[in-house]
Amino acid sequence: MSRVGESATLKVARRALALKRQGVDLVDLGAGEPDFPTPQVAVEAACAALRDGFTKYTAGSGTPELRGAVAEQFRARFGSPWSAAETVISVGGKAGLFEIAMAIAEPGVEIVLPSPCWVSLPAQIELAGGTPVLVPTSPDDGFALHADALLAATTERTRAILINSPSNPTGGLISPPELRALVEGAAARGLLVIADETYARLVYDGARIATVAALAAEFPDSVALAGSFSKTYAMTGWRVGYVLGPPELIAAVENVQSHVTSNPTSFAMIGALAALEHAEPEVERMLAIYQERRDFLVPRLNAIPGLTCAPPGGAFYAFPRATGAFAPGRSTSVELAEFLLEEARVAVVPGSAFGADDHIRLSFATSLEELGRGIERISAALARSNAIA
Ligand code: PLP
Repeated sequence: MSRVGESATLKVARRALALKRQGVDLVDLGAGEPDFPTPQVAVEAACAALRDGFTKYTAGSGTPELRGAVAEQFRARFGSPWSAAETVISVGGKAGLFEIAMAIAEPGVEIVLPSPCWVSLPAQIELAGGTPVLVPTSPDDGFALHADALLAATTERTRAILINSPSNPTGGLISPPELRALVEGAAARGLLVIADETYARLVYDGARIATVAALAAEFPDSVALAGSFSKTYAMTGWRVGYVLGPPELIAAVENVQSHVTSNPTSFAMIGALAALEHAEPEVERMLAIYQERRDFLVPRLNAIPGLTCAPPGGAFYAFPRATGAFAPGRSTSVELAEFLLEEARVAVVPGSAFGADDHIRLSFATSLEELGRGIERISAALARSNAIA
Protein backbone atom coordinates (compact mmCIF):
# COMPACT_ATOMS: atom_id res chain seq x y z
CA MET A 1 0.00 0.00 0.00
CA SER A 2 2.92 2.34 0.66
CA ARG A 3 3.59 2.28 -3.10
CA VAL A 4 0.42 4.26 -3.81
CA GLY A 5 -0.02 6.49 -0.75
CA GLU A 6 -2.70 9.10 -0.21
CA SER A 7 -3.13 11.84 -2.75
CA ALA A 8 -2.48 15.46 -1.75
CA THR A 9 -5.54 16.39 -3.76
CA LEU A 10 -7.77 14.58 -1.30
CA LYS A 11 -7.08 17.45 1.06
CA VAL A 12 -8.70 19.85 -1.40
CA ALA A 13 -11.63 17.46 -1.95
CA ARG A 14 -12.12 17.07 1.80
CA ARG A 15 -12.08 20.82 2.31
CA ALA A 16 -14.65 21.28 -0.47
CA LEU A 17 -16.90 18.72 1.19
CA ALA A 18 -16.50 20.39 4.59
CA LEU A 19 -17.44 23.79 3.10
CA LYS A 20 -20.50 22.29 1.41
CA ARG A 21 -21.58 20.69 4.68
CA GLN A 22 -21.30 24.11 6.36
CA GLY A 23 -23.75 25.36 3.76
CA VAL A 24 -21.20 27.47 1.85
CA ASP A 25 -22.40 28.29 -1.66
CA LEU A 26 -19.77 26.42 -3.70
CA VAL A 27 -19.59 26.05 -7.46
CA ASP A 28 -18.44 22.46 -7.81
CA LEU A 29 -16.44 21.88 -10.98
CA GLY A 30 -14.53 19.03 -9.37
CA ALA A 31 -16.93 16.16 -9.81
CA GLY A 32 -16.12 13.50 -12.38
CA GLU A 33 -19.67 12.40 -13.02
CA PRO A 34 -22.65 13.34 -15.15
CA ASP A 35 -25.15 15.72 -13.56
CA PHE A 36 -27.99 14.07 -15.54
CA PRO A 37 -30.30 11.54 -13.93
CA THR A 38 -29.97 7.92 -15.03
CA PRO A 39 -32.33 7.23 -17.98
CA GLN A 40 -35.73 6.28 -16.64
CA VAL A 41 -35.83 3.08 -18.68
CA ALA A 42 -32.86 1.74 -16.66
CA VAL A 43 -34.41 2.78 -13.35
CA GLU A 44 -37.71 1.10 -14.20
CA ALA A 45 -36.04 -2.12 -15.33
CA ALA A 46 -33.92 -2.34 -12.16
CA CYS A 47 -36.95 -1.63 -9.93
CA ALA A 48 -38.91 -4.36 -11.69
CA ALA A 49 -35.97 -6.77 -11.29
CA LEU A 50 -35.87 -6.02 -7.56
CA ARG A 51 -39.61 -6.55 -7.23
CA ASP A 52 -39.34 -9.81 -9.19
CA GLY A 53 -36.77 -11.11 -6.73
CA PHE A 54 -33.73 -10.88 -8.99
CA THR A 55 -31.63 -10.31 -5.90
CA LYS A 56 -29.28 -13.27 -5.66
CA TYR A 57 -25.80 -14.07 -6.92
CA THR A 58 -25.57 -14.31 -10.69
CA ALA A 59 -22.86 -16.00 -12.75
CA GLY A 60 -19.54 -14.51 -11.64
CA SER A 61 -18.80 -12.74 -14.92
CA GLY A 62 -22.24 -11.19 -15.20
CA THR A 63 -25.61 -12.18 -16.61
CA PRO A 64 -25.40 -13.97 -19.98
CA GLU A 65 -27.88 -11.44 -21.39
CA LEU A 66 -25.75 -8.40 -20.55
CA ARG A 67 -22.50 -10.09 -21.61
CA GLY A 68 -24.12 -11.01 -24.92
CA ALA A 69 -25.62 -7.54 -25.45
CA VAL A 70 -22.34 -5.73 -24.77
CA ALA A 71 -20.46 -8.06 -27.14
CA GLU A 72 -23.18 -7.68 -29.78
CA GLN A 73 -23.13 -3.89 -29.55
CA PHE A 74 -19.41 -3.81 -30.34
CA ARG A 75 -19.85 -6.39 -33.10
CA ALA A 76 -22.67 -4.47 -34.74
CA ARG A 77 -20.94 -1.09 -34.53
CA PHE A 78 -17.32 -2.05 -35.16
CA GLY A 79 -17.20 -5.64 -36.43
CA SER A 80 -15.39 -6.98 -33.37
CA PRO A 81 -15.18 -10.77 -33.02
CA TRP A 82 -15.78 -10.93 -29.25
CA SER A 83 -18.70 -13.06 -28.06
CA ALA A 84 -20.37 -13.19 -24.65
CA ALA A 85 -17.64 -15.64 -23.59
CA GLU A 86 -14.98 -12.96 -24.21
CA THR A 87 -16.93 -10.32 -22.28
CA VAL A 88 -16.81 -9.93 -18.50
CA ILE A 89 -19.19 -7.57 -16.73
CA SER A 90 -17.27 -5.85 -13.91
CA VAL A 91 -18.10 -3.69 -10.91
CA GLY A 92 -17.63 -0.46 -12.87
CA GLY A 93 -14.86 0.15 -15.36
CA LYS A 94 -12.52 0.69 -12.43
CA ALA A 95 -12.73 -2.91 -11.19
CA GLY A 96 -12.38 -4.20 -14.75
CA LEU A 97 -9.18 -2.18 -15.22
CA PHE A 98 -7.86 -3.33 -11.85
CA GLU A 99 -8.54 -6.95 -12.75
CA ILE A 100 -6.63 -6.48 -16.02
CA ALA A 101 -3.72 -4.98 -14.05
CA MET A 102 -3.80 -7.92 -11.64
CA ALA A 103 -3.89 -10.32 -14.57
CA ILE A 104 -0.87 -8.91 -16.43
CA ALA A 105 1.35 -6.96 -14.00
CA GLU A 106 3.92 -8.34 -11.59
CA PRO A 107 7.30 -7.18 -10.30
CA GLY A 108 9.61 -6.48 -13.21
CA VAL A 109 6.78 -5.87 -15.68
CA GLU A 110 6.33 -2.43 -17.24
CA ILE A 111 3.09 -1.02 -18.57
CA VAL A 112 3.43 2.03 -20.82
CA LEU A 113 0.77 4.74 -20.60
CA PRO A 114 0.33 8.36 -21.66
CA SER A 115 0.56 11.18 -19.13
CA PRO A 116 -1.26 13.18 -17.78
CA CYS A 117 -3.54 10.29 -16.93
CA TRP A 118 -6.37 9.30 -14.63
CA VAL A 119 -4.95 8.82 -11.15
CA SER A 120 -6.06 5.20 -10.74
CA LEU A 121 -4.37 3.84 -13.88
CA PRO A 122 -0.75 3.98 -12.61
CA ALA A 123 -1.90 3.26 -9.04
CA GLN A 124 -3.59 0.02 -10.12
CA ILE A 125 -0.44 -1.12 -11.96
CA GLU A 126 1.60 -0.40 -8.84
CA LEU A 127 -0.87 -2.23 -6.60
CA ALA A 128 -0.46 -5.24 -8.90
CA GLY A 129 3.32 -5.01 -8.44
CA GLY A 130 4.14 -3.65 -11.91
CA THR A 131 5.84 -0.44 -13.00
CA PRO A 132 3.93 2.27 -14.90
CA VAL A 133 6.05 4.00 -17.55
CA LEU A 134 4.61 7.42 -18.35
CA VAL A 135 4.87 8.97 -21.81
CA PRO A 136 4.11 12.70 -21.90
CA THR A 137 1.44 14.18 -24.15
CA SER A 138 1.30 17.89 -24.94
CA PRO A 139 -1.30 20.66 -24.78
CA ASP A 140 0.20 21.99 -28.03
CA ASP A 141 -1.73 19.35 -30.01
CA GLY A 142 -4.65 18.93 -27.61
CA PHE A 143 -2.89 16.12 -25.70
CA ALA A 144 -3.24 13.79 -28.70
CA LEU A 145 -1.82 10.29 -28.27
CA HIS A 146 0.94 9.26 -30.66
CA ALA A 147 1.87 5.68 -31.55
CA ASP A 148 5.57 6.44 -32.08
CA ALA A 149 6.10 7.96 -28.65
CA LEU A 150 4.24 5.16 -26.88
CA LEU A 151 6.06 2.41 -28.81
CA ALA A 152 9.43 4.11 -28.25
CA ALA A 153 8.92 3.79 -24.49
CA THR A 154 8.58 -0.01 -24.63
CA THR A 155 11.44 -2.28 -23.54
CA GLU A 156 11.88 -6.02 -23.18
CA ARG A 157 10.17 -5.65 -19.79
CA THR A 158 6.99 -4.11 -21.28
CA ARG A 159 3.89 -6.29 -21.35
CA ALA A 160 1.22 -3.82 -22.42
CA ILE A 161 0.41 -0.27 -23.51
CA LEU A 162 -2.58 1.20 -21.68
CA ILE A 163 -4.35 4.06 -23.41
CA ASN A 164 -7.35 6.14 -22.37
CA SER A 165 -9.09 7.97 -25.22
CA PRO A 166 -10.85 10.31 -24.68
CA SER A 167 -8.59 10.99 -21.74
CA ASN A 168 -9.49 11.95 -18.24
CA PRO A 169 -8.18 14.59 -17.45
CA THR A 170 -7.01 16.03 -20.79
CA GLY A 171 -9.86 15.23 -23.18
CA GLY A 172 -7.12 14.19 -25.64
CA LEU A 173 -7.85 11.55 -28.29
CA ILE A 174 -6.00 8.99 -30.33
CA SER A 175 -6.89 9.24 -34.03
CA PRO A 176 -7.91 6.11 -35.97
CA PRO A 177 -4.63 6.01 -37.99
CA GLU A 178 -2.53 6.49 -34.84
CA LEU A 179 -4.46 3.71 -33.09
CA ARG A 180 -3.86 1.38 -36.03
CA ALA A 181 -0.14 2.21 -35.99
CA LEU A 182 -0.04 1.61 -32.24
CA VAL A 183 -1.78 -1.76 -32.45
CA GLU A 184 0.38 -2.86 -35.41
CA GLY A 185 3.53 -1.88 -33.53
CA ALA A 186 2.35 -3.58 -30.35
CA ALA A 187 1.39 -6.76 -32.20
CA ALA A 188 4.80 -6.86 -33.88
CA ARG A 189 6.40 -6.68 -30.42
CA GLY A 190 4.07 -9.25 -28.84
CA LEU A 191 2.45 -6.59 -26.61
CA LEU A 192 -1.15 -5.99 -25.64
CA VAL A 193 -2.90 -2.65 -26.21
CA ILE A 194 -5.45 -2.11 -23.45
CA ALA A 195 -7.91 0.67 -24.20
CA ASP A 196 -9.79 2.35 -21.38
CA GLU A 197 -12.80 3.52 -23.44
CA THR A 198 -14.85 4.77 -20.50
CA TYR A 199 -15.51 8.09 -22.31
CA ALA A 200 -15.71 6.68 -25.84
CA ARG A 201 -19.28 7.88 -26.42
CA LEU A 202 -18.38 11.44 -25.41
CA VAL A 203 -16.48 12.88 -28.38
CA TYR A 204 -17.17 16.31 -29.83
CA ASP A 205 -17.38 18.06 -33.19
CA GLY A 206 -18.71 14.86 -34.78
CA ALA A 207 -15.26 13.23 -34.53
CA ARG A 208 -15.01 9.56 -35.39
CA ILE A 209 -14.00 7.59 -32.30
CA ALA A 210 -10.94 5.38 -32.58
CA THR A 211 -11.74 2.12 -30.79
CA VAL A 212 -9.77 -1.09 -30.44
CA ALA A 213 -13.08 -2.87 -31.13
CA ALA A 214 -12.59 -1.94 -34.79
CA LEU A 215 -9.17 -3.64 -34.84
CA ALA A 216 -9.97 -6.69 -32.74
CA ALA A 217 -10.87 -8.94 -35.72
CA GLU A 218 -7.51 -8.18 -37.33
CA PHE A 219 -5.42 -8.31 -34.13
CA PRO A 220 -7.39 -10.64 -31.83
CA ASP A 221 -4.45 -11.40 -29.53
CA SER A 222 -3.23 -7.83 -29.21
CA VAL A 223 -6.15 -5.70 -28.04
CA ALA A 224 -8.39 -5.52 -24.98
CA LEU A 225 -11.12 -3.01 -24.15
CA ALA A 226 -12.39 -1.78 -20.79
CA GLY A 227 -15.53 0.32 -20.68
CA SER A 228 -18.35 1.44 -18.45
CA PHE A 229 -22.00 2.39 -18.20
CA SER A 230 -21.05 5.15 -15.74
CA LYS A 231 -20.42 8.19 -17.93
CA THR A 232 -22.30 7.19 -21.09
CA TYR A 233 -25.60 6.58 -19.31
CA ALA A 234 -25.15 8.71 -16.17
CA MET A 235 -24.99 5.50 -14.13
CA THR A 236 -21.92 6.14 -11.94
CA GLY A 237 -23.49 4.79 -8.75
CA TRP A 238 -24.70 1.57 -10.37
CA ARG A 239 -21.17 0.22 -10.74
CA VAL A 240 -21.40 -1.63 -14.03
CA GLY A 241 -18.51 -1.88 -16.50
CA TYR A 242 -17.01 -4.47 -18.82
CA VAL A 243 -13.84 -5.98 -20.21
CA LEU A 244 -13.51 -7.59 -23.65
CA GLY A 245 -10.39 -9.20 -25.03
CA PRO A 246 -8.43 -12.32 -25.92
CA PRO A 247 -9.66 -15.54 -24.23
CA GLU A 248 -6.49 -15.96 -22.15
CA LEU A 249 -6.78 -12.47 -20.66
CA ILE A 250 -10.52 -12.83 -20.12
CA ALA A 251 -10.01 -16.12 -18.27
CA ALA A 252 -7.48 -14.41 -15.97
CA VAL A 253 -9.81 -11.43 -15.41
CA GLU A 254 -12.66 -13.83 -14.57
CA ASN A 255 -10.43 -15.62 -12.08
CA VAL A 256 -9.48 -12.38 -10.35
CA GLN A 257 -13.09 -11.19 -10.29
CA SER A 258 -14.26 -14.52 -8.86
CA HIS A 259 -12.06 -13.93 -5.82
CA VAL A 260 -12.58 -10.21 -5.39
CA THR A 261 -16.11 -9.03 -6.17
CA SER A 262 -18.03 -12.01 -7.58
CA ASN A 263 -20.74 -10.74 -9.90
CA PRO A 264 -21.71 -7.08 -10.24
CA THR A 265 -25.01 -6.27 -8.51
CA SER A 266 -27.73 -8.41 -10.07
CA PHE A 267 -30.45 -5.79 -10.57
CA ALA A 268 -27.94 -3.12 -11.64
CA MET A 269 -27.08 -5.35 -14.59
CA ILE A 270 -30.77 -5.47 -15.55
CA GLY A 271 -30.83 -1.67 -15.53
CA ALA A 272 -27.64 -1.54 -17.58
CA LEU A 273 -29.11 -3.89 -20.19
CA ALA A 274 -32.18 -1.67 -20.50
CA ALA A 275 -29.97 1.39 -20.90
CA LEU A 276 -27.90 -0.32 -23.59
CA GLU A 277 -31.00 -1.39 -25.51
CA HIS A 278 -33.25 1.65 -25.11
CA ALA A 279 -31.38 4.78 -23.97
CA GLU A 280 -29.51 5.68 -27.16
CA PRO A 281 -31.62 8.83 -27.76
CA GLU A 282 -30.70 10.03 -24.26
CA VAL A 283 -27.01 9.40 -24.89
CA GLU A 284 -27.27 11.59 -28.00
CA ARG A 285 -29.14 14.28 -26.09
CA MET A 286 -26.58 14.36 -23.27
CA LEU A 287 -23.71 14.47 -25.77
CA ALA A 288 -25.23 17.53 -27.48
CA ILE A 289 -25.54 19.26 -24.10
CA TYR A 290 -21.93 18.46 -23.11
CA GLN A 291 -20.82 19.87 -26.44
CA GLU A 292 -22.72 23.09 -25.77
CA ARG A 293 -21.14 23.35 -22.32
CA ARG A 294 -17.64 22.71 -23.65
CA ASP A 295 -18.14 25.39 -26.30
CA PHE A 296 -19.34 27.78 -23.59
CA LEU A 297 -16.58 27.05 -21.08
CA VAL A 298 -13.38 26.84 -23.10
CA PRO A 299 -13.35 30.35 -24.67
CA ARG A 300 -14.31 31.85 -21.31
CA LEU A 301 -11.43 30.05 -19.60
CA ASN A 302 -9.06 31.33 -22.25
CA ALA A 303 -10.32 34.86 -21.61
CA ILE A 304 -9.12 34.66 -18.00
CA PRO A 305 -5.57 36.03 -17.76
CA GLY A 306 -3.23 33.22 -16.72
CA LEU A 307 -5.27 30.28 -18.06
CA THR A 308 -4.75 28.61 -21.46
CA CYS A 309 -7.07 25.82 -22.49
CA ALA A 310 -7.05 23.64 -25.60
CA PRO A 311 -10.60 22.48 -26.42
CA PRO A 312 -10.94 18.88 -25.20
CA GLY A 313 -11.79 16.46 -28.02
CA GLY A 314 -13.81 14.25 -25.67
CA ALA A 315 -14.82 13.41 -22.06
CA PHE A 316 -16.23 16.28 -19.97
CA TYR A 317 -13.22 18.05 -18.53
CA ALA A 318 -11.39 21.26 -19.40
CA PHE A 319 -7.71 21.04 -18.49
CA PRO A 320 -6.19 24.53 -18.74
CA ARG A 321 -2.55 25.28 -18.19
CA ALA A 322 -2.63 27.49 -15.13
CA THR A 323 0.94 28.54 -14.39
CA GLY A 324 0.02 32.08 -15.51
CA ALA A 325 -2.32 32.23 -12.51
CA PHE A 326 0.37 31.06 -10.09
CA ALA A 327 1.68 33.68 -7.64
CA PRO A 328 3.62 33.66 -4.39
CA GLY A 329 1.73 31.31 -2.04
CA ARG A 330 -0.03 29.59 -4.93
CA SER A 331 2.80 28.16 -6.95
CA THR A 332 1.50 24.61 -7.34
CA SER A 333 -1.77 23.27 -8.69
CA VAL A 334 -2.81 22.21 -5.18
CA GLU A 335 -2.18 25.72 -3.82
CA LEU A 336 -4.06 27.26 -6.76
CA ALA A 337 -6.98 24.88 -6.18
CA GLU A 338 -6.96 25.81 -2.48
CA PHE A 339 -6.94 29.51 -3.42
CA LEU A 340 -9.91 29.01 -5.78
CA LEU A 341 -11.78 27.12 -3.08
CA GLU A 342 -11.18 29.74 -0.37
CA GLU A 343 -11.29 32.95 -2.43
CA ALA A 344 -13.62 32.09 -5.32
CA ARG A 345 -15.66 29.32 -3.69
CA VAL A 346 -15.09 27.17 -6.77
CA ALA A 347 -13.94 23.55 -6.48
CA VAL A 348 -11.52 22.31 -9.15
CA VAL A 349 -9.08 19.38 -9.17
CA PRO A 350 -5.35 20.14 -9.06
CA GLY A 351 -3.44 18.82 -12.08
CA SER A 352 -0.89 17.15 -9.82
CA ALA A 353 -3.47 14.40 -9.25
CA PHE A 354 -2.89 13.44 -12.88
CA GLY A 355 0.85 14.09 -13.02
CA ALA A 356 0.50 17.64 -14.42
CA ASP A 357 1.20 20.24 -11.77
CA ASP A 358 0.97 23.06 -14.36
CA HIS A 359 -2.73 22.40 -14.88
CA ILE A 360 -6.09 22.32 -13.15
CA ARG A 361 -9.12 20.23 -14.14
CA LEU A 362 -12.62 21.68 -14.35
CA SER A 363 -15.57 19.39 -15.04
CA PHE A 364 -18.28 20.62 -17.38
CA ALA A 365 -20.69 17.91 -16.28
CA THR A 366 -22.76 20.69 -14.75
CA SER A 367 -25.25 23.29 -15.97
CA LEU A 368 -24.38 26.33 -18.08
CA GLU A 369 -25.53 28.51 -15.18
CA GLU A 370 -23.07 26.86 -12.80
CA LEU A 371 -20.29 27.09 -15.37
CA GLY A 372 -21.06 30.79 -15.82
CA ARG A 373 -21.01 31.39 -12.07
CA GLY A 374 -17.73 29.48 -11.78
CA ILE A 375 -16.07 31.50 -14.52
CA GLU A 376 -17.20 34.80 -13.00
CA ARG A 377 -15.94 33.82 -9.57
CA ILE A 378 -12.56 32.58 -10.80
CA SER A 379 -11.91 35.70 -12.88
CA ALA A 380 -12.98 37.98 -10.05
CA ALA A 381 -10.84 36.22 -7.43
CA LEU A 382 -7.75 36.24 -9.65
CA ALA A 383 -8.31 39.90 -10.62
CA ARG A 384 -8.72 40.89 -6.94
CA SER A 385 -5.56 39.12 -5.89
CA ASN A 386 -3.57 40.52 -8.81
CA ALA A 387 -4.76 44.04 -7.96
CA ILE A 388 -3.58 43.59 -4.36
CA ALA A 389 -0.25 42.19 -5.54
N1 PLP B 1 -11.44 5.28 -16.54
C1 PLP B 1 -11.37 6.60 -16.44
C2 PLP B 1 -10.43 7.36 -17.28
C3 PLP B 1 -12.20 7.27 -15.52
O1 PLP B 1 -12.15 8.60 -15.41
C4 PLP B 1 -13.09 6.52 -14.71
C5 PLP B 1 -13.92 7.18 -13.70
O2 PLP B 1 -13.73 8.30 -13.32
C6 PLP B 1 -13.11 5.13 -14.89
C7 PLP B 1 -12.27 4.54 -15.81
C8 PLP B 1 -13.98 4.22 -14.10
O3 PLP B 1 -15.29 4.58 -13.98
P1 PLP B 1 -16.36 3.55 -13.36
O4 PLP B 1 -15.63 2.68 -12.40
O5 PLP B 1 -17.38 4.40 -12.73
O6 PLP B 1 -16.87 2.76 -14.52
